[in-house]
Amino acid sequence: MTVGIVVISHSRALAEAAVALAGEMDAGGGVPVEVAAGADDGGFGTDAVAISEALASADQGDGVVVLMDMGSAVLSAELALELVDDEVRERVVLCPAPLVEGLVVAVVSAAGGASAGEVAAEAGDALAAKSGHLGGLDGTAPAAAVPAPAPAGAGEETGTFTVRMPHGLHARPAAALVAAVRALDADVRLRNVTLEGPEVSAASMSKVATLGALQGHEVAVRASGPDAGRAVHRLQELAEDSFGETAPAAPAPAPAARGTGRPIPASPGVGIGAVSVAAPAGITLPAPVAGTPAEQRARLDEARARGREHLRAVRDRAAREIGEAEATIFDAQLLLLDDPDVLADAETRIEGGADAAVAWADAMDAVEAALAAATDEYLRGRARDVRDVRDQVLAALGGHAEQAAASDGVLVADDLTPADAAAIEPGRTPAVVLAGSSPTAHAAILLRARGVPAVVGVGAELAARAREAGVLAVDGTTGELAVDPDETVLADFRARAAAHTRRRDDALRRAHEPAVTRDGTTVLVGANVGSVDDAAAAVGADLAGLVRTEFSFLDRHDAPDVDEQEAAYRAIAEAMGGQRITLRTLDVGGDKPLDYLPMPAEANPFLGVRGLRLALARPELLADQLEAVVRVAHDHPVDVMFPMVSTVDELDAARRALDGAVEAVGRGRPDLRVGIMVEVPAAALKAASFAPSVDFLSIGTNDLTQYALAAERGNEDLAALADALDPGVLALIAATVAGAGDDVLVAVCGEVAADEQAVPLLLGLGVRELSVAPAAVGVVKQAVREVDLGAAGELARTALTCPDAAAVRGLLG
Ligand code: PEP
Ligand code: MG
Repeated sequence: MTVGIVVISHSRALAEAAVALAGEMDAGGGVPVEVAAGADDGGFGTDAVAISEALASADQGDGVVVLMDMGSAVLSAELALELVDDEVRERVVLCPAPLVEGLVVAVVSAAGGASAGEVAAEAGDALAAKSGHLGGLDGTAPAAAVPAPAPAGAGEETGTFTVRMPHGLHARPAAALVAAVRALDADVRLRNVTLEGPEVSAASMSKVATLGALQGHEVAVRASGPDAGRAVHRLQELAEDSFGETAPAAPAPAPAARGTGRPIPASPGVGIGAVSVAAPAGITLPAPVAGTPAEQRARLDEARARGREHLRAVRDRAAREIGEAEATIFDAQLLLLDDPDVLADAETRIEGGADAAVAWADAMDAVEAALAAATDEYLRGRARDVRDVRDQVLAALGGHAEQAAASDGVLVADDLTPADAAAIEPGRTPAVVLAGSSPTAHAAILLRARGVPAVVGVGAELAARAREAGVLAVDGTTGELAVDPDETVLADFRARAAAHTRRRDDALRRAHEPAVTRDGTTVLVGANVGSVDDAAAAVGADLAGLVRTEFSFLDRHDAPDVDEQEAAYRAIAEAMGGQRITLRTLDVGGDKPLDYLPMPAEANPFLGVRGLRLALARPELLADQLEAVVRVAHDHPVDVMFPMVSTVDELDAARRALDGAVEAVGRGRPDLRVGIMVEVPAAALKAASFAPSVDFLSIGTNDLTQYALAAERGNEDLAALADALDPGVLALIAATVAGAGDDVLVAVCGEVAADEQAVPLLLGLGVRELSVAPAAVGVVKQAVREVDLGAAGELARTALTCPDAAAVRGLLG
């Protein structure tokens, strides 16, 4: 939906200034705004013919909203309506809103995909905040704490709340709000009164995100339906309670990043090199294909399914090459493919006669435009993700992708999709410079994970200069960007690069040395690997503390046989050069289904038949895998580890299956240590019951955290909640160590083990082995070397008394 806007004013200068102001709200520039202002001779006046031409130009078929200044502007507008085609006239709405306020709101609303009627209605409300604040035109009731909401319609309830959270109505509180609304039988609409923004549905995450509600903003609530009163009350109650936020969820946002011309540090490190320009990646709309709405829907469904397949493949690769935590970025994109609001919008467009590609593109463009126009930097960072998903589906519908191919060198681009960022090779790209984006955008997260220095938000002008340059020097730690630096500047950047590399090299150089704490305790630092490449990259690792064997099982149509599995594990063992490898048995299930293992759909896959539960339900799979493990264990040091164990019975059953495999191989019992992953809170609390039957316990903090905090690990909206440093999770780690006793080693192989700041805390809790992404082995060893276990124990005791993860992080400096 692209509603056009016409501005009629007696003064051309006034109209143009108002349009420029409103243009700030439409970063994508997608809303057509036409001006009909001033007399022909440059003086003041309005002209019906000029207005009729403006109406025709602004109309793209979805209607036009007209904003006027005063007096005869209205008469001229009415006259102009007589001059346009009947078809256009029917789509024009003359809006009585005040010109400046109305125009700003109208542009935001139109950019968000509202219809002409909705745009006009929202523009009509544009004075509410100002008059509420001033207490009416006579100014006698100043600054009411709560601005007067728009008058309630019949059966409607209204109210307002103030956003208290330091970081505004971010993803987590927004999710709480949407969930509360969805639980009630009411149609609830919200409006950011402070920003004089448009009204949006409170049941849609993508729409609530566009409110851009920051700390101190007033939000108006309008509800109808049986639970209307409860809905208003509930939201006010939630707001009063800061939507359950007890502490700042994330570091204070970085400065605004909409291409301000102030480069923002986004990924530490220094990179110098020739310029490599990436053409803006994009996609052409495929030629329309005729068909009934039902056929268009089917095309769209199929294209979404292919988009899903593609995104899953990108996700799997990111999980393997970068890390599971970073790969969850693509889970959020996968969710967007099924966003009910977007689908409903696309559906309406299809019903209205649109081709599947146009319907999808327009529906996604509306979400992207609304996010791009957000005042909040975090939300703007999500706009690129929306475009990525949009383009995947358009490609599946036959759109032609223009590749953002680039040569080796410092990459300069407007922005990067997460998939582009995930594909960047540090060896070929010494640094990245982006005109837009933000440090919290997914591209930046992935660049950090890849260790590619980056500055973002440099603005169009500086990016253009950078593209023209021969050499760029980038400091992703400070945010500095030098374009064609002279020798002195270059020398300075080289010195910084050298210092950064020295620090990393120190870690790498000493990676092969054991990690011994200051007071002489050796801590094993292992690598988490999924492939031979991972194992080869695990420089200095004392062991492979977690081999995710599921990679042999995914992306195929049948299960690998014993020989195939044996070959895969043997190759990893050989790549680890004689170090012990910990083979975790198949950890798939509900959330990671296998094509050849049909399973009934589960309402809560993370609580379903996954990990060891699945293996015990499919004993033939487990038997084959354990046979392969035993064969390799005869030639290499091997541990076997069972995932997602909840009860001692399950472990006993798994051990019996292992005995069976030893017998099937027929070469006696190899040196094979047995352990379990502690991922279920109950298992942590029952560690003492497991201890007699295991050689080690390895805490999978990724899952343990999600289960302890009931916060799904792949849910981006819960990312801040699902913090492994929550004192509740730390208490479970402490309980595991206590239950394990002196003879059973406790390891941590979840992502938190690679957090250098968390290392003293984990060691203080009694953990004596850490297994991390291959690239992190060196720096984690360095972090261990700086630990004094006495002080670390004290730190852990204090952390266990903290109220929340933020307080724990505060202790870590
Ligand atoms: C964990 O849950 O912490 C873990 C290491 O296992 P995965 O991430 O493979 O589920
Ligand atoms: Mg796990």
